Amino acid sequence: MSHLIHRSLRSDPPLALSGQGIHLRDQDGRAIIDGSGGAAVACLGHGHPRVLEAMRAQMETLCYAHTALFGCESAEALADVLVGHRPGGLSHAYFVSSGSEGNEAALKIARQYFLEIGQPERRHVIARRQSYHGNTLGALAAGGNAMRRAPYAPLLSDAFSHVSACYPYRGRAEGESDADYVARLAAELEAEFRRLGPGTVIAFLAETMVGATLGCVTALPGYFQAMREICDRHGALLILDEVMCGMGRTGTLHAWEQEGVAPDIQVIAKGLGGGYQPIGGILVAEKVVAALRDGSGAFKHGHTYQAHPMACAAALAVQRVIAEEDLLANVTRQGARLEQALTERLGNHAHVGEIRGRGLFWAVELVRDRATKTPFDPALAVHERVRDLAYEEGLACYPMNGTIDGRLGDHAILAPPYTVTAAQVDEIAAKFARAVERAVAG
Ligand code: PLP
Repeated sequence: MSHLIHRSLRSDPPLALSGQGIHLRDQDGRAIIDGSGGAAVACLGHGHPRVLEAMRAQMETLCYAHTALFGCESAEALADVLVGHRPGGLSHAYFVSSGSEGNEAALKIARQYFLEIGQPERRHVIARRQSYHGNTLGALAAGGNAMRRAPYAPLLSDAFSHVSACYPYRGRAEGESDADYVARLAAELEAEFRRLGPGTVIAFLAETMVGATLGCVTALPGYFQAMREICDRHGALLILDEVMCGMGRTGTLHAWEQEGVAPDIQVIAKGLGGGYQPIGGILVAEKVVAALRDGSGAFKHGHTYQAHPMACAAALAVQRVIAEEDLLANVTRQGARLEQALTERLGNHAHVGEIRGRGLFWAVELVRDRATKTPFDPALAVHERVRDLAYEEGLACYPMNGTIDGRLGDHAILAPPYTVTAAQVDEIAAKFARAVERAVAG
């Protein structure tokens, strides 16, 4: 038995011995197609030569220097690439080591912003049910995933409250139009602002496209514009968590580009470094940074490994490859192919409730009864069956349970690398469909 605390303490997972392109090789020598890049991380696949070369060069130059005393070239260059052109008014970057740390930094800089501009009474954050923002205690408190929150509830701050996510498949009422559903969600957010006292809210925090917990749910047209308008009216910030859906996953570098809004603070991680190094970050609007600069002069936060030279060098190389090889065009092209392949194979399946996604970020929600949308009995652990049967087929995918309320519901996510080919998309869809069919059979 291993001395590592694995995700399960009852069985050890197979070792991944190596990775090349879209394949991982396990300890039995099997080549597994990495159809989800782990948790939508490996956006360039494994062993990309340009990223390895950049990491090697950085390693031989500088591995670490503390940010209390030094900046470093790779972090400066990465910030230039990400916000030098001020996308959506975002002008500064702050790099950490994970998505959770990114959300912690976002929450803290948002709170500090209001201290700096003389609004210390702002102390609440409104987030959404069935969202996931990370597992550190602040990010977990922000998240609305009941299953992950429950054991730690006594440790979670009550600064956070939650409104409904935009989840048309289950949230839109019978006969309700998209516009009416969006209006209802806007009214719910407005009511929450009023309940808390509008001048006490720091921010509304949401995943632009809900990833792990709901399974690739895009918002309806007009939804984020309505949320932005409410935040603006009440002087609160809009924080978009694009840890999973950002950095090209949906076909644009930022998922918010397709929603007609820009956030005041954006959280990024997985596709930033593609798994080559642990890295996350926040992109921050000029007005927030200016308030700190003109006020106390410093963001009252910090980590030993922030803006780590190796992590930033790897992420810089990943971002350069994405831009220079025009990979976002491939995300859109192959994403359309993946949608079509999944629809052809699973669109009419009795246990497939919905196939949804955008770019190279797709999920299938599984149901016991398609007409009534009744989920499977959680005891059947259908999501685990999909994972195990997909692995048998030679495919790694990312299934999850608790889709509906943290307990009920199953879905599985596919998130292939931006470099995926048409033939690989077809192979992924075929293996995935077989796994789903077997998982729900009898
Ligand atoms: N936010 C979102 C939207 C995520 O999907 C995740 C991880 O899945 C996180 C935050 C937490 O990121 P990490 O696991 O790197 O801490």
